[in-house]
Amino acid sequence: MLIGAETKLFALRLSLSPRSTTIDTLRRLGVSYEALSLDGIQGLSSEDHDWLHALYKSEETFHRVPFQHAMTLARRRRALLRAGYCLVPSCEMVYVAAHHYERSLRLQMQALYRSLHTIDDDERSRLAPVLARIVAAWQTGVMHHSSNSGSAGRLQFRLYDIDRYAELHFPLCMKHLHHKLRENHHLKYNGRVQYRMFLKGLGVSVGESLVFFRSEFVKVMPTATFEKEHAYHIRHSYGLEGSRKDYEPLACAQIIHGSTPRHGQYHGCPFRHWDEATLCRELSRCGLDPSTVSRVAGEVGQGRSQSACRMLFDATHHVSYAQAAQQSQGTGVAVQGGGGVVVQHPNAYVEVSERAESAN
Ligand code: SF4
Repeated sequence: MLIGAETKLFALRLSLSPRSTTIDTLRRLGVSYEALSLDGIQGLSSEDHDWLHALYKSEETFHRVPFQHAMTLARRRRALLRAGYCLVPSCEMVYVAAHHYERSLRLQMQALYRSLHTIDDDERSRLAPVLARIVAAWQTGVMHHSSNSGSAGRLQFRLYDIDRYAELHFPLCMKHLHHKLRENHHLKYNGRVQYRMFLKGLGVSVGESLVFFRSEFVKVMPTATFEKEHAYHIRHSYGLEGSRKDYEPLACAQIIHGSTPRHGQYHGCPFRHWDEATLCRELSRCGLDPSTVSRVAGEVGQGRSQSACRMLFDATHHVSYAQAAQQSQGTGVAVQGGGGVVVQHPNAYVEVSERAESAN
Protein backbone atom coordinates (compact mmCIF):
# COMPACT_ATOMS: atom_id res chain seq x y z
CA MET A 1 0.00 0.00 0.00
CA LEU A 2 2.83 2.36 0.98
CA ILE A 3 4.78 1.54 -2.18
CA GLY A 4 1.69 2.22 -4.31
CA ALA A 5 1.13 5.59 -2.64
CA GLU A 6 4.80 6.55 -3.00
CA THR A 7 4.78 5.57 -6.66
CA LYS A 8 1.72 7.74 -7.26
CA LEU A 9 3.41 10.67 -5.57
CA PHE A 10 6.57 10.10 -7.58
CA ALA A 11 4.53 10.07 -10.82
CA LEU A 12 2.68 13.21 -9.76
CA ARG A 13 5.93 15.07 -9.08
CA LEU A 14 7.37 13.98 -12.41
CA SER A 15 4.24 15.01 -14.27
CA LEU A 16 4.61 18.51 -12.79
CA SER A 17 8.23 18.76 -13.93
CA PRO A 18 9.54 19.61 -17.40
CA ARG A 19 9.25 16.63 -19.74
CA SER A 20 13.01 16.20 -20.04
CA THR A 21 13.11 15.39 -16.29
CA THR A 22 11.38 12.04 -16.95
CA ILE A 23 13.97 10.94 -19.48
CA ASP A 24 16.80 12.17 -17.21
CA THR A 25 15.29 10.24 -14.30
CA LEU A 26 15.13 7.07 -16.37
CA ARG A 27 18.72 7.61 -17.42
CA ARG A 28 19.77 7.92 -13.79
CA LEU A 29 17.99 4.62 -13.11
CA GLY A 30 20.13 3.14 -15.88
CA VAL A 31 17.24 2.77 -18.34
CA SER A 32 17.08 4.03 -21.91
CA TYR A 33 14.91 3.20 -24.89
CA GLU A 34 15.15 3.66 -28.61
CA ALA A 35 13.56 7.00 -29.56
CA LEU A 36 11.82 7.32 -32.92
CA SER A 37 9.85 9.91 -34.81
CA LEU A 38 6.36 8.87 -35.90
CA ASP A 39 7.43 8.72 -39.55
CA GLY A 40 10.60 6.83 -38.65
CA ILE A 41 8.78 3.84 -37.09
CA GLN A 42 9.30 0.81 -39.35
CA GLY A 43 6.44 -1.49 -40.34
CA LEU A 44 3.63 0.72 -39.09
CA SER A 45 0.35 0.21 -40.95
CA SER A 46 -1.56 3.27 -42.06
CA GLU A 47 -4.28 2.45 -39.44
CA ASP A 48 -1.65 2.35 -36.67
CA HIS A 49 -0.13 5.58 -37.95
CA ASP A 50 -3.53 7.30 -37.98
CA TRP A 51 -4.41 5.96 -34.53
CA LEU A 52 -1.18 7.29 -33.03
CA HIS A 53 -1.51 10.58 -34.84
CA ALA A 54 -5.12 11.02 -33.69
CA LEU A 55 -4.20 10.27 -30.06
CA TYR A 56 -0.96 12.23 -29.89
CA LYS A 57 -1.22 14.92 -32.55
CA SER A 58 1.59 17.19 -31.42
CA GLU A 59 3.89 14.42 -30.22
CA GLU A 60 7.14 14.12 -32.16
CA THR A 61 9.04 11.42 -30.30
CA PHE A 62 7.98 7.87 -29.43
CA HIS A 63 9.94 5.35 -27.39
CA ARG A 64 10.13 1.62 -28.07
CA VAL A 65 9.45 0.18 -24.61
CA PRO A 66 9.14 -3.54 -23.71
CA PHE A 67 5.51 -4.34 -23.04
CA GLN A 68 6.10 -5.30 -19.39
CA HIS A 69 7.51 -1.81 -18.63
CA ALA A 70 4.39 -0.05 -19.91
CA MET A 71 1.57 -2.26 -18.65
CA THR A 72 -0.47 0.67 -17.32
CA LEU A 73 -0.48 2.35 -20.72
CA ALA A 74 -1.20 -0.88 -22.59
CA ARG A 75 -4.11 -1.59 -20.24
CA ARG A 76 -5.55 1.87 -20.81
CA ARG A 77 -4.97 1.59 -24.57
CA ARG A 78 -2.72 4.69 -24.46
CA ALA A 79 0.19 3.04 -26.29
CA LEU A 80 0.41 0.98 -29.45
CA LEU A 81 1.46 -2.59 -28.74
CA ARG A 82 3.35 -4.41 -31.50
CA ALA A 83 5.61 -7.52 -31.31
CA GLY A 84 6.08 -7.30 -27.56
CA TYR A 85 6.91 -3.58 -27.56
CA CYS A 86 4.81 -0.51 -26.80
CA LEU A 87 5.29 2.70 -28.73
CA VAL A 88 5.11 5.25 -25.93
CA PRO A 89 5.03 8.99 -26.65
CA SER A 90 7.32 11.22 -24.57
CA CYS A 91 4.35 12.74 -22.75
CA GLU A 92 3.43 9.29 -21.32
CA MET A 93 6.93 8.22 -20.26
CA VAL A 94 6.04 9.21 -16.68
CA TYR A 95 4.22 5.85 -16.44
CA VAL A 96 7.33 3.99 -17.56
CA ALA A 97 9.48 5.89 -15.03
CA ALA A 98 6.89 5.08 -12.32
CA HIS A 99 7.13 1.38 -13.21
CA HIS A 100 10.92 1.42 -12.68
CA TYR A 101 10.64 3.48 -9.52
CA GLU A 102 8.12 1.05 -8.02
CA ARG A 103 10.26 -1.93 -8.98
CA SER A 104 13.36 -0.36 -7.47
CA LEU A 105 11.47 0.47 -4.24
CA ARG A 106 10.27 -3.14 -3.95
CA LEU A 107 13.77 -4.52 -4.49
CA GLN A 108 15.27 -2.14 -1.93
CA MET A 109 12.62 -2.96 0.65
CA GLN A 110 13.16 -6.68 0.12
CA ALA A 111 16.91 -6.18 0.53
CA LEU A 112 16.35 -4.14 3.71
CA TYR A 113 13.96 -6.76 5.07
CA ARG A 114 16.47 -9.53 4.40
CA SER A 115 19.36 -7.63 5.95
CA LEU A 116 17.35 -6.84 9.10
CA HIS A 117 16.91 -10.58 9.64
CA THR A 118 20.61 -11.34 9.38
CA ILE A 119 21.79 -8.93 12.09
CA ASP A 120 21.86 -9.81 15.77
CA ASP A 121 19.52 -8.38 18.42
CA ASP A 122 22.05 -5.88 19.81
CA GLU A 123 22.71 -4.42 16.40
CA ARG A 124 19.00 -4.33 15.60
CA SER A 125 18.13 -2.42 18.78
CA ARG A 126 20.97 0.03 18.04
CA LEU A 127 19.71 0.63 14.50
CA ALA A 128 15.97 0.70 15.21
CA PRO A 129 15.80 4.31 16.51
CA VAL A 130 18.02 5.52 13.65
CA LEU A 131 15.73 3.89 11.09
CA ALA A 132 12.65 5.26 12.86
CA ARG A 133 14.07 8.80 12.65
CA ILE A 134 14.85 8.38 8.95
CA VAL A 135 11.32 7.14 8.26
CA ALA A 136 9.78 10.01 10.28
CA ALA A 137 11.84 12.63 8.44
CA TRP A 138 10.97 11.06 5.11
CA GLN A 139 7.26 10.84 5.94
CA THR A 140 7.03 14.50 6.76
CA GLY A 141 8.65 15.46 3.51
CA VAL A 142 12.35 15.87 4.06
CA MET A 143 12.80 17.05 0.50
CA HIS A 144 12.05 20.74 0.46
CA HIS A 145 12.01 22.34 -2.94
CA SER A 146 14.39 25.24 -3.02
CA SER A 147 12.55 26.48 -6.08
CA ASN A 148 9.71 27.95 -4.03
CA SER A 149 9.18 31.57 -4.90
CA GLY A 150 8.04 34.65 -2.98
CA SER A 151 8.75 35.31 0.65
CA ALA A 152 8.51 31.56 1.34
CA GLY A 153 11.78 31.07 -0.52
CA ARG A 154 13.57 33.23 2.05
CA LEU A 155 12.25 31.37 5.10
CA GLN A 156 14.23 28.80 7.04
CA PHE A 157 11.11 26.63 7.30
CA ARG A 158 11.58 22.93 6.51
CA LEU A 159 8.69 20.52 6.78
CA TYR A 160 10.68 17.77 8.53
CA ASP A 161 11.37 20.29 11.31
CA ILE A 162 7.78 21.52 11.61
CA ASP A 163 7.17 20.63 15.27
CA ARG A 164 10.10 22.71 16.52
CA TYR A 165 9.49 25.49 14.02
CA ALA A 166 5.77 25.76 14.89
CA GLU A 167 6.62 26.38 18.55
CA LEU A 168 9.08 29.12 17.64
CA HIS A 169 7.39 30.91 14.76
CA PHE A 170 3.74 29.99 14.15
CA PRO A 171 1.00 32.38 15.27
CA LEU A 172 -1.41 30.95 17.83
CA CYS A 173 -4.11 30.08 15.27
CA MET A 174 -1.74 27.86 13.25
CA LYS A 175 0.05 26.44 16.26
CA HIS A 176 -3.33 25.31 17.54
CA LEU A 177 -4.22 23.66 14.21
CA HIS A 178 -0.83 21.95 14.11
CA HIS A 179 -1.23 20.56 17.64
CA LYS A 180 -4.73 19.31 16.86
CA LEU A 181 -3.57 17.65 13.65
CA ARG A 182 -0.79 15.85 15.54
CA GLU A 183 -3.20 14.92 18.34
CA ASN A 184 -6.21 13.74 16.31
CA HIS A 185 -4.47 12.91 12.99
CA HIS A 186 -7.31 14.74 11.32
CA LEU A 187 -8.81 18.21 10.86
CA LYS A 188 -12.30 19.13 9.74
CA TYR A 189 -12.86 20.97 6.48
CA ASN A 190 -12.29 24.61 7.57
CA GLY A 191 -9.24 23.67 9.61
CA ARG A 192 -7.77 21.70 6.72
CA VAL A 193 -8.21 24.64 4.35
CA GLN A 194 -6.81 27.21 6.79
CA TYR A 195 -3.80 25.09 7.69
CA ARG A 196 -2.83 23.70 4.30
CA MET A 197 -3.06 27.13 2.66
CA PHE A 198 -0.85 28.54 5.40
CA LEU A 199 1.69 25.77 4.77
CA LYS A 200 1.48 26.44 1.06
CA GLY A 201 2.33 30.08 1.86
CA LEU A 202 5.42 28.82 3.72
CA GLY A 203 6.60 27.16 0.53
CA VAL A 204 5.29 23.62 1.04
CA SER A 205 4.87 22.05 -2.41
CA VAL A 206 1.82 20.03 -3.43
CA GLY A 207 3.84 16.81 -3.20
CA GLU A 208 5.04 17.63 0.30
CA SER A 209 1.55 18.63 1.37
CA LEU A 210 0.20 15.28 0.17
CA VAL A 211 2.93 13.39 2.02
CA PHE A 212 2.51 15.45 5.19
CA PHE A 213 -1.27 15.21 5.49
CA ARG A 214 -1.30 11.60 4.35
CA SER A 215 1.24 10.64 7.03
CA GLU A 216 -1.21 11.91 9.70
CA PHE A 217 -4.59 11.02 8.20
CA VAL A 218 -3.71 7.39 7.44
CA LYS A 219 -3.37 6.84 11.19
CA VAL A 220 -7.16 7.14 11.44
CA MET A 221 -8.36 6.17 7.96
CA PRO A 222 -7.37 3.79 5.16
CA THR A 223 -4.94 5.21 2.61
CA ALA A 224 -7.56 4.67 -0.09
CA THR A 225 -9.99 6.95 1.78
CA PHE A 226 -7.34 9.65 2.01
CA GLU A 227 -6.60 9.37 -1.71
CA LYS A 228 -10.31 9.50 -2.54
CA GLU A 229 -11.49 12.21 -0.17
CA HIS A 230 -8.49 14.43 0.56
CA ALA A 231 -5.78 14.19 -2.09
CA TYR A 232 -8.02 15.85 -4.68
CA HIS A 233 -8.65 18.88 -2.43
CA ILE A 234 -4.94 19.31 -1.74
CA ARG A 235 -4.16 19.28 -5.46
CA HIS A 236 -7.15 21.59 -6.02
CA SER A 237 -5.78 24.21 -3.64
CA TYR A 238 -2.57 24.26 -5.71
CA GLY A 239 -4.55 24.88 -8.90
CA LEU A 240 -4.05 21.36 -10.26
CA GLU A 241 -7.70 20.24 -10.28
CA GLY A 242 -11.13 21.67 -11.06
CA SER A 243 -11.10 25.40 -11.75
CA ARG A 244 -7.25 25.34 -11.67
CA LYS A 245 -7.15 28.49 -9.59
CA ASP A 246 -3.97 28.98 -7.59
CA TYR A 247 -5.47 29.84 -4.18
CA GLU A 248 -3.79 32.19 -1.70
CA PRO A 249 -3.30 31.55 2.02
CA LEU A 250 -5.99 33.16 4.20
CA ALA A 251 -5.29 36.60 5.70
CA CYS A 252 -6.19 37.43 9.31
CA ALA A 253 -9.28 39.39 8.26
CA GLN A 254 -10.64 36.36 6.38
CA ILE A 255 -9.95 34.07 9.31
CA ILE A 256 -11.38 36.48 11.88
CA HIS A 257 -14.56 37.12 9.91
CA GLY A 258 -14.92 33.52 8.75
CA SER A 259 -17.17 30.92 10.34
CA THR A 260 -17.00 30.35 14.09
CA PRO A 261 -15.51 26.93 14.96
CA ARG A 262 -18.00 24.50 16.49
CA HIS A 263 -17.34 21.45 18.62
CA GLY A 264 -14.47 19.43 17.12
CA GLN A 265 -13.37 22.25 14.79
CA TYR A 266 -10.10 24.10 15.36
CA HIS A 267 -9.98 26.75 12.65
CA GLY A 268 -10.45 30.48 13.23
CA CYS A 269 -8.56 33.08 15.25
CA PRO A 270 -8.06 32.36 18.98
CA PHE A 271 -8.28 36.10 19.74
CA ARG A 272 -11.68 36.23 18.11
CA HIS A 273 -13.22 32.82 18.55
CA TRP A 274 -12.01 31.45 21.88
CA ASP A 275 -13.73 32.18 25.19
CA GLU A 276 -11.74 34.29 27.63
CA ALA A 277 -10.87 31.49 30.06
CA THR A 278 -9.47 29.23 27.31
CA LEU A 279 -7.48 32.08 25.79
CA CYS A 280 -6.02 33.17 29.14
CA ARG A 281 -5.03 29.59 29.95
CA GLU A 282 -3.25 29.31 26.60
CA LEU A 283 -1.52 32.68 27.03
CA SER A 284 -0.21 31.57 30.43
CA ARG A 285 1.00 28.31 28.86
CA CYS A 286 2.93 30.47 26.35
CA GLY A 287 4.80 31.97 29.31
CA LEU A 288 2.97 35.31 29.69
CA ASP A 289 2.81 36.72 33.20
CA PRO A 290 -0.65 37.43 34.72
CA SER A 291 -0.55 41.19 34.07
CA THR A 292 0.34 40.69 30.36
CA VAL A 293 -2.37 38.04 30.08
CA SER A 294 -4.91 40.50 31.41
CA ARG A 295 -3.70 43.28 29.05
CA VAL A 296 -4.03 40.95 26.04
CA ALA A 297 -7.47 39.84 27.25
CA GLY A 298 -8.45 43.53 27.56
CA GLU A 299 -7.44 44.13 23.94
CA VAL A 300 -9.50 41.12 22.87
CA GLY A 301 -12.43 42.54 24.86
CA GLN A 302 -12.18 45.70 22.74
CA GLY A 303 -12.48 43.57 19.59
CA ARG A 304 -8.84 44.18 18.58
CA SER A 305 -7.83 40.62 17.74
CA GLN A 306 -4.89 41.46 15.48
CA SER A 307 -3.46 43.88 17.99
CA ALA A 308 -3.79 41.22 20.73
CA CYS A 309 -1.93 38.80 18.46
CA ARG A 310 0.88 41.34 18.12
CA MET A 311 1.00 41.72 21.92
CA LEU A 312 1.51 37.97 22.23
CA PHE A 313 4.34 38.21 19.70
CA ASP A 314 5.95 41.07 21.68
CA ALA A 315 5.73 39.10 24.90
CA THR A 316 7.30 35.95 23.42
CA HIS A 317 10.08 37.47 21.29
CA HIS A 318 13.09 39.54 22.23
CA VAL A 319 12.28 42.14 19.57
CA SER A 320 8.86 43.77 19.18
CA TYR A 321 6.67 42.93 16.21
CA ALA A 322 6.88 46.57 15.07
CA GLN A 323 10.70 46.56 15.01
CA ALA A 324 11.05 43.19 13.32
CA ALA A 325 8.28 44.08 10.87
CA GLN A 326 10.19 47.22 9.97
CA GLN A 327 12.97 45.02 8.63
CA SER A 328 10.41 42.97 6.71
CA GLN A 329 9.18 45.97 4.72
CA GLY A 330 9.71 45.46 1.05
CA THR A 331 9.66 41.68 1.37
CA GLY A 332 6.02 41.49 0.37
CA VAL A 333 4.51 40.99 3.82
CA ALA A 334 1.81 43.44 4.85
CA VAL A 335 2.23 44.51 8.44
CA GLN A 336 0.87 48.05 8.83
CA GLY A 337 -2.66 48.40 10.16
CA GLY A 338 -4.70 51.60 10.31
CA GLY A 339 -3.83 52.46 13.91
CA GLY A 340 -0.28 51.10 14.03
CA VAL A 341 1.47 47.83 13.40
CA VAL A 342 -0.82 44.85 13.84
CA VAL A 343 -0.67 41.30 12.53
CA GLN A 344 -2.31 41.21 9.13
CA HIS A 345 -1.45 37.75 7.93
CA PRO A 346 -0.38 34.50 9.61
CA ASN A 347 2.37 34.02 7.02
CA ALA A 348 3.64 37.55 7.67
CA TYR A 349 3.76 36.68 11.39
CA VAL A 350 6.08 33.78 10.58
CA GLU A 351 8.38 35.93 8.50
CA VAL A 352 8.53 38.65 11.13
CA SER A 353 9.16 36.04 13.81
CA GLU A 354 12.09 34.63 11.86
CA ARG A 355 13.50 38.11 11.43
CA ALA A 356 13.13 38.74 15.14
CA GLU A 357 15.13 35.59 15.82
CA SER A 358 17.90 36.45 13.38
CA ALA A 359 18.11 40.01 14.77
CA ASN A 360 18.67 38.53 18.21
FE1 SF4 B 1 -3.85 34.05 13.43
FE2 SF4 B 1 -4.15 36.52 12.51
FE3 SF4 B 1 -5.55 35.67 14.61
FE4 SF4 B 1 -2.95 36.13 14.83
S1 SF4 B 1 -4.55 37.65 14.39
S2 SF4 B 1 -4.04 34.36 15.62
S3 SF4 B 1 -2.22 35.46 12.86
S4 SF4 B 1 -5.70 34.92 12.53
